[in-house]
Amino acid sequence: MYISLREKNKDTDVDRIFDAHCDTVLHFTGEHGSYNFLKENNHAHVDLPRLKKGGIKAQIFALFIEPCFKSGGALQRCLRLLNSFYETVDGCGNEIITVYDYPQFIEVTESGKIAALLLVEGGEALEGELKNLRKLFFLGVRGLGLTWNFENEISGAAMEGPGSKGLKSFGKKVVREMNRLGMIIDLAHISPKGFQDVLAVTDAPVIVSHANAAALCNHPRNLTDEQMKLLRDNKGVLGISFYPPFIDHREAGLDRLLDHFEHAADILGVDYLGIGSDFDGIDIVLKELRDVSFLPRLTAGLRKRGFSETEIRKILFENFLRIVKETVTGEGNEVC
Ligand SMILES: [Zn+2]
Repeated sequence: MYISLREKNKDTDVDRIFDAHCDTVLHFTGEHGSYNFLKENNHAHVDLPRLKKGGIKAQIFALFIEPCFKSGGALQRCLRLLNSFYETVDGCGNEIITVYDYPQFIEVTESGKIAALLLVEGGEALEGELKNLRKLFFLGVRGLGLTWNFENEISGAAMEGPGSKGLKSFGKKVVREMNRLGMIIDLAHISPKGFQDVLAVTDAPVIVSHANAAALCNHPRNLTDEQMKLLRDNKGVLGISFYPPFIDHREAGLDRLLDHFEHAADILGVDYLGIGSDFDGIDIVLKELRDVSFLPRLTAGLRKRGFSETEIRKILFENFLRIVKETVTGEGNEVC
């Protein structure tokens, strides 16, 4: 029986939010205990009722390739996650719709539904072959996080430390092909050298879907002020993450998270700033932002810090909307 959840939630006081990163597809597989996307699940951070409570109108769902698939089977694993995603999202009525280009994104969000975009987290899934990128595009994937925490065929990774490698020749081909197809390039997790190299190659803006400011919390996954400036020059967008170890080495709370928004607004600018929660990919959460339904607290916090309504709309939604407009144009649908 199909039960409409629409009547219970009206778009009243919640602002529209575009979250650039969650790992909820791992729950869709059923491998982490029983999970029902249509109900609230205590052991997960994201499901349909709480996406609506939180005011999410667009969500990038990551297909995270676990490191155990690095040595083999990464593409197959990716396809399994993709299948779980479609089974769950297509099977839940029409309140959340997978979108494949900007015009469709607009159509879905303007009709009050949630737009879902698919992004693979970990270029291992390509298994070193460009044709696999085109296969994933054909199957609906519209973004790729070039690396996770370890070097792959594309580049070195941030967590490998100062000596980590930059973009490799295969990586350059991947970036160019993503530009051609119209896919979102995600530089979260990439090495500092790889970050620079991609920005020298790409002719489209990129995203860093989930990271914070290294000036406030010196973690290899966070962006330095220099990197923020490079990202701004590219007109890319950073999604500030809610993962406590990226926020502060000591006590991380909403207040400290808001410091990251302020710092990024100063260095990067409010036109290049967004959110990338990393919900369901993190084992600890801020007590004020325990799951996606708590997002109105972030909005209230930004207001308290003096961000204007126009700036808040940019941070919460419009900056990532621009990325979709400028990258996922739909032109790639014909070249595939
Ligand atoms: Zn990640």
